Amino acid sequence: MKMLRAMREPLKYVQGRDALLQFHKEMEYMGKRWLFVCSNSGYKACHEKLEKSFGTSDDYRRYEIFGGISSNGEIKKMMAIVEEDKIDTVVAVGGGSAVDTAKATAYYTGKHIVILPTVAATDAPCTGLSVIYNDDHSFDRYLFYPTNPDAVMVDTTIIANAPVKFLIAGMGDALGTYFEGRASIRTESSSLEGTGITRAGQALARLCYDTLRAYGKQAIEACKVHAVTPALENIVEANVYLSGVGADNVNCAAAHSFYNGVTSLGIKHADHGCCVAFGTLVQLVLEGATKEEFDDVQSFCLEVGLPVTLAEIGEITDEQIMTIAKNACAPGETIHNLAGDVEPIELYDAIKQADALGKLALAK
Ligand SMILES: [Zn+2]
Repeated sequence: MKMLRAMREPLKYVQGRDALLQFHKEMEYMGKRWLFVCSNSGYKACHEKLEKSFGTSDDYRRYEIFGGISSNGEIKKMMAIVEEDKIDTVVAVGGGSAVDTAKATAYYTGKHIVILPTVAATDAPCTGLSVIYNDDHSFDRYLFYPTNPDAVMVDTTIIANAPVKFLIAGMGDALGTYFEGRASIRTESSSLEGTGITRAGQALARLCYDTLRAYGKQAIEACKVHAVTPALENIVEANVYLSGVGADNVNCAAAHSFYNGVTSLGIKHADHGCCVAFGTLVQLVLEGATKEEFDDVQSFCLEVGLPVTLAEIGEITDEQIMTIAKNACAPGETIHNLAGDVEPIELYDAIKQADALGKLALAK
């Protein structure tokens, strides 16, 4: 039987200058008792605005500053707070770890979940899954949820005041979305959530890429001077919403497997999104993309400061490239959404060619 097509996204998405000042107004239908799971910097950036948004309301607010990763132990700790304090809604404030911990806490306790990202470095906020770690920081599992978050709210003033490298990394993560989705559609693979792929999902992935191309450079220059402009708003929407909802409803392919291969080395390496950007160039080589298409994507990477060579990812030997290639081709990796079964030696060669073309471009 053919897979059912399905489309998933956050129920509500709110974005704009000083958006957090309207947190309570936008979210009050979710209850009266709030647990904010905050990263250290997330707390600093958001606490004052959030409190202001409550005005004279006597809603219960508890802020938990969270230093760890999204481990089973941390999730249990937060679940206990939800029970003790009779929390209605769990709110993630910060980057990846706070987001994943809060999502899992809300899921296991059956509460509402709101995500307030304070950087636009990955597309995790809008997706319906988390990465969960063991208490010793080793990878445990992907936790897939039956729905995406109740709401995601992005305060672009906060994003404009975060280091520009986060915005650039987010653009790298978003760069993969269209090409990885296109590869998955070509092979009639399922979406990341295991359903048939909708035309809506395909359209969002395409719009994500078009938005990056049209506004990427302008947004970076805006962020450097902490300016909230339409270009910055467009790129934040691409990084957080279009990329997240896009990826969930299409699928990943070689670019994300390349990232997993790099992390398997256990060396110091570039951010997730930067690896995904170079991984996208590698995927284009694997797919036999034309010179025109490859040059086009590569020149975008050069324009916005995303890596085009392996040296920009980390110090990696040929032997380590082979390890990346082997681990990126492990069973279950999304690279298998590509047409034909990719063998490690093919990926190894594609990495070498993408790197060579990058060196050539940098020498110009
Ligand atoms: Zn990603």
